[in-house]
Amino acid sequence: MKLPKLVLIAVGKLAAVACRLVGRDAGNFPGLALWTIDKSFLRCFSVDCPVIAVTGTNGKTSTTNYLNKIFSSLPNEKCVITNMQGNNLDTGIGSLLLHHCDMHGRIHADHLVLEVDESHVPVIFKYLKLETLVVLNFFRDQLDRNGEVETLILKVQKFLEHSDAQLVLNADDPNVVRLCPKGKKAHFFSVEKYEGATDELYEAGEGKFCPFCAAALEYEYYQYSHIGRFRCPRCGYGDVTPETQIKDIDFDNSCFKINGEAFTSKYMGIYHLYNLSAVYTAAKLYNIDSKLINDAFEDFQVNNGRMEVFRTSDAELLLNLAKNPVGANMTLRLLNQYKGEEQLLFVLNDNVADGLDVSWIWDINFSIFNNVTKVVTSGTRAYDIAVRIKYSGYDAQKIVPIPDLDAAAAEIFSTGGRKFAIANYTAVQPTRAALTRYITAKEAH
Ligand SMILES: [Zn+2]
Repeated sequence: MKLPKLVLIAVGKLAAVACRLVGRDAGNFPGLALWTIDKSFLRCFSVDCPVIAVTGTNGKTSTTNYLNKIFSSLPNEKCVITNMQGNNLDTGIGSLLLHHCDMHGRIHADHLVLEVDESHVPVIFKYLKLETLVVLNFFRDQLDRNGEVETLILKVQKFLEHSDAQLVLNADDPNVVRLCPKGKKAHFFSVEKYEGATDELYEAGEGKFCPFCAAALEYEYYQYSHIGRFRCPRCGYGDVTPETQIKDIDFDNSCFKINGEAFTSKYMGIYHLYNLSAVYTAAKLYNIDSKLINDAFEDFQVNNGRMEVFRTSDAELLLNLAKNPVGANMTLRLLNQYKGEEQLLFVLNDNVADGLDVSWIWDINFSIFNNVTKVVTSGTRAYDIAVRIKYSGYDAQKIVPIPDLDAAAAEIFSTGGRKFAIANYTAVQPTRAALTRYITAKEAH
């Protein structure tokens, strides 16, 4: 027997109150409680505004935050609901809706901007009406949870065949272009060939074959991983004209153009430019003024271990979260953009939330360590990552494995200069804490 909506909502709201009383984060538990009682609990909610969702392996959180910022800056906008903390499964989104709904499950807002895990798109939007879906990319990610990337793509593809949502799709990812149902028009976004693009596949990537006729895809160039200008020589798959293309990229002055208009952003990594292109395309579907979009691009502050900078008097360290090879390769590419000596800290954990299998580190491309004078490895799998880097041909004498994070932080800061840190999912917060402790202690002296 299914409980009436009213009862479920009441139970969920009580669970949220209980969370707050015991000082627990209510970001996931109330939704989880309802899910335990009724797997279709999301049917309880009714939303009276457009729902915009962002999905894909990498860049969901940033892209969602940009869109939230842009919608919130609209002159008549009173309420934008978003899951900024990244609770992006059905239980997390259920908790968010519980927080904002009345006792009848009704949600009144101007826009709902949601980050949604790829595997949960069909689950969540079976019950909520989706107006716009942004799909950034599909890479191999946490295999234990998602299964092979192909299974995941097929799930989303199947869902989209019966959805009337408008689609904002990455024109340069063969795993994404295929999501556009036959006969339907999608809004494609892209970034023009940039100076770091290559003729050969440079990092491990998915999607080397045409999903329709299985011929090997031909690439004009690769931007990073399997993202680039591709085409199937046999059936023509990939011949799409992007509606938005970022052009005239100027890394020195941190600016670029879209449709002839100038934009600036502090974050100019190629993968980040793709996110910006997606944000622009989605915002334009809602006729948002370019000035508001550029304001968001300019002001945006990434933190929480995503391109976060830590400074001492004589050194600077840039920390970036990496949950998969592509994420790690992005940071290594950035490291390679700079001249002069650098050091790298790599923190690898294998807790449940990371996926217990750390074999993805073997897909990271460590062959570009041009100026790296030292690598410190840490985390519960400090030795695994050290071995991996040694096997890439890097001088073992320069690798220092230190499982204890405080000691690792002290080691990386024992010399001055530019530093980079990569940490996987559960390693990010402990790494931030250790770096902050080190810097605070150092400044106190
Ligand atoms: Zn083909």
